[in-house]
Amino acid sequence: MTSSFSNLSLAEPLARAVAEMGYETMTPIQEQAIPVVLQGKDVMGAAQTGTGKTAAFALPLLQRMMKHENASTSPARHPVRALVLLPTRELAIQVAEQVKLYAKYTNLNSAVVFGGMDMKPQTLELKKGVEVLVATPGRLLDHIEAKNTVLNQVEYVVLDEADRMLDIGFLPDLQRILSYLPKQRITLLFSATFSPEIKRLASSYLQDPVTIEVARSNAAASTVEQHFYSVGADDKRRALHQILKQRDMKQAFVFVNSKLGCARLARSLEREGLKTTALHGDKSQEERLKALDSFKKGEVDLLVCTDVAARGLDIKDVPAVFNFDVPFNAEDYIHRIGRTGRAGASGLAVSFVASSDIRLVTDIEKLLKTKIELEPLEFDEDRPRISEQGRINDGRRMYRESEGATPEASSEFRAPRERPERRERREHTPYRQAAAPRDPFFDQPYEPGVAVDAQPAWEAAAKTNAARGGVSANIKPKKKVAALFKACA
Ligand code: AMP
Repeated sequence: MTSSFSNLSLAEPLARAVAEMGYETMTPIQEQAIPVVLQGKDVMGAAQTGTGKTAAFALPLLQRMMKHENASTSPARHPVRALVLLPTRELAIQVAEQVKLYAKYTNLNSAVVFGGMDMKPQTLELKKGVEVLVATPGRLLDHIEAKNTVLNQVEYVVLDEADRMLDIGFLPDLQRILSYLPKQRITLLFSATFSPEIKRLASSYLQDPVTIEVARSNAAASTVEQHFYSVGADDKRRALHQILKQRDMKQAFVFVNSKLGCARLARSLEREGLKTTALHGDKSQEERLKALDSFKKGEVDLLVCTDVAARGLDIKDVPAVFNFDVPFNAEDYIHRIGRTGRAGASGLAVSFVASSDIRLVTDIEKLLKTKIELEPLEFDEDRPRISEQGRINDGRRMYRESEGATPEASSEFRAPRERPERRERREHTPYRQAAAPRDPFFDQPYEPGVAVDAQPAWEAAAKTNAARGGVSANIKPKKKVAALFKACA
């Protein structure tokens, strides 16, 4: 049975904000996590973005902070009390936006800091005093070092998408940040998986956490119509055009596995008449925000993206997700298709499977525990064939699609005779880049970066303490405080 927000007895300003958001019943993670956080217990939650996780931690934390709420304009009266750490700028922005909405009718301030942007505006925000600080680890450390914020009054820490933070090597930054915080605090850790590294992190920084697991997004996928089409690598763009047309799709995400493939595909689709924007790790922060914004506003039809967009970006009602490249990591398939069919709405997820992708499809089959049938795709006779080299073959002649092709792009159209080795490589590995990726975070999605067996320094500290019969050196037992409260009562 799902319960209503009205059962929670939230403070009036929070209840009003929730009502205004149109939420009626709690999602499973909210139902399980909110009461536990309200009781002041640590939480280890297996939940992904899209499950209502943000409200699951933000609402009870705001509720607990209401006792400090004040209308003073003095920054000293608004110290950072809750710190929410996230792996990417996009996620940080998204979570901060939600926190702002939930806290809208309170006097609790919030701010977000992330890298890739001028520190000054963020500094000004911090100096005003904020109770809830949402941050990516690197930029937060910059602000700590610049003494723009002090974290000695932090009572609540949320490590959101913790697995992702470890995957991309944020562990040392997390350790440093956590070392600046009071040891007496409530810590909430959310992660898509409970890998051995995550468990180690939890044992070092969480105290007797309540474990909460909600159905993985495989369940959400039940509202998504999934198709796996067997398509030659050279026919993928043609297939995309055809399905968009047949289904009369207005907007879609198109996922690729590399930045180079992303930029190239976006360029090609744009030339083929689709309003397209690319979202990948080489884009500046401004460009990324602009890309997202124009997609949200409906100014572009297709958002071609790498997996940076797969986790977390909360763009609702995307009617379709195309896996132009089958993801290297099966988990990413779930993250990708989670962009469609959200909140009970039906969606479409189409994967184009070339012969070299079959192994990756087998991995997805294993993860979903379902047999995947590869479907053939019949091409409309009247649709021109679009070759990998960016030409349209209308059956009579080949012609260049773009008149305004740049010198760089035009080299793609050279006759095969001139560069046979290049042509061959492209035909067999159509969107793979030759150069080593400069930004492994975006291009090598979610392969564990930390050796499972390696023992991090903080674990050693935890063990030493365990040997002493106590908890980790990084946390202070909560029981004593509970006893103190009892004594006072
Ligand atoms: P999250 O997993 O926190 O990123 O939330 C995903 C989306 O679900 C966001 O757009 C939220 O506004 C929305 N949402 C969160 N909780 C609820 C709820 N109880 N009912 C309806 N929508 C919700």
